Amino acid sequence: MRRYSAFAIAREALRFHTGWERAWAAPEPKADYDVVIVGAGGHGLATAYYLGKNYGITNVAIVEKGWLGGGNTGRNTTIIRSNYLQDPSAAIYEKARSLYETMSQDLNYNVMFSPRGVMMLAQTEHEIRGYQRTAHANALQGVATEFISPARVKELCPIIELSGPRYPVLGALWQPRGGTARHDAVAWGYARACSDMGMHILQKTEVSAVLQSGGQVTGVTTSKGDIKCKKLAIVVAGNSGVLAEMAGFRLPMESAALQALVSEPIKPCMDVVVMANTVHGYMSQSDKGEMVIGGGADGFNNYTQRGSFHHVEETVRALIETFPIISRLKMLRQWGGIVDMTGDRSPIISKTPLGNCFIDGGWGTGGFKSIPGSGWAMAELVAKGEPGALAAPFGLDRFKEGRFIDESVAAGVAH
Ligand SMILES: Cc1cc2nc3c(=O)[nH]c(=O)nc-3n(C[C@H](O)[C@H](O)[C@H](O)COP(=O)(O)OP(=O)(O)OC[C@H]3O[C@@H](n4cnc5c(N)ncnc54)[C@H](O)[C@@H]3O)c2cc1C
Repeated sequence: MRRYSAFAIAREALRFHTGWERAWAAPEPKADYDVVIVGAGGHGLATAYYLGKNYGITNVAIVEKGWLGGGNTGRNTTIIRSNYLQDPSAAIYEKARSLYETMSQDLNYNVMFSPRGVMMLAQTEHEIRGYQRTAHANALQGVATEFISPARVKELCPIIELSGPRYPVLGALWQPRGGTARHDAVAWGYARACSDMGMHILQKTEVSAVLQSGGQVTGVTTSKGDIKCKKLAIVVAGNSGVLAEMAGFRLPMESAALQALVSEPIKPCMDVVVMANTVHGYMSQSDKGEMVIGGGADGFNNYTQRGSFHHVEETVRALIETFPIISRLKMLRQWGGIVDMTGDRSPIISKTPLGNCFIDGGWGTGGFKSIPGSGWAMAELVAKGEPGALAAPFGLDRFKEGRFIDESVAAGVAH
């Protein structure tokens, strides 16, 4: 595949852009593959990419019922950070964040990683203590964060109102190298690289059954027929429970819609990401000028994948005290994605009761930031059959053993 470069743009400009190749192929399914990955979201595609890049396994199909990146990967608010509390989380999220730093070069695809800085506001005394604790934990884990004063918050984000009557800003946990990336581009960049390695991305191909014999996986039934495989990776976010049922096991996971919205575009007024966990809202400004606003998850399990008016109202109402300027903004669009939440708000990267069937899910409201780290760890698990250091703590067995990785505070607001 031809490399993208400034030279290529100039060349194509001169011949009216007639020479661009398709970014990825649209092959017909083969009868069998070494590895079948269900789900062409960021995590599935990253798993495929690192299987090829790190382990030379390229006889791989990524099977997607819709279009690639059309699940949560294309629906999130793109916040990237690694300021989690527990060591296993800091390790995998920081691995992911560090891979984001060089992803555009690695994939030869501009994913628009923007390490503009992420702050999580402390708006209660309890949050001050919580975030100071996280800052200390991060210092020990080698993750660069600091607890900053209200004056510094105002300096970094002038549109914030510090002295709200209910929830004044008392400080913030600040991660200067956190930020955002273009979510579609992450999926597209991985897809292009996977296709270039000869992997098959099978869009509009729904998996409806997991085939097995003698306790081992043998393939999947899809809307385009049966496909055999030696190993199966289930990477379907909010549909994890559905796929697990097809494979014959249950997951400690619940699915619900998580919603977000964007405003009309306005002039640049905010060049950091701000999360206000107490009031349940977070905001950043996109390159187009829209204010990207995230809210909470629905309070009941569902698979709706769409937004609802009461969330718009609740989220905007919550944020107005801290960001009075948004009170006069028109909201342009709202949407939802199905997130997969575990009890300890940490993911599952694990072997399953079915032989050679692996699962990567449970990233809930916060798995965009972890895409490269998760793919890296899942590829190792699938290639070797055993988890490496990054994935080992996130096994399914932790729910039997009570070895929870509690990140309910770090995941607090929706991611
Ligand atoms: C509104 C919203 C805001 C968010 N904000 C953030 C944020 O700011 N930062 C952050 O880090 N995270 C955020 N997240 C979470 C993040 O988007 C997800 O954790 C992440 O994208 C999950 O990626 P994935 O590849 O696992 O899943 P997905 O991208 O959902 O991919 C799974 C794919 O599997 C496919 N699939 C399902 N069933 C089948 C089947 N039977 N056969 C074939 N294919 C199937 C689906 O079609 C889908 O494309 C947010 C999520 C939402 C919804």
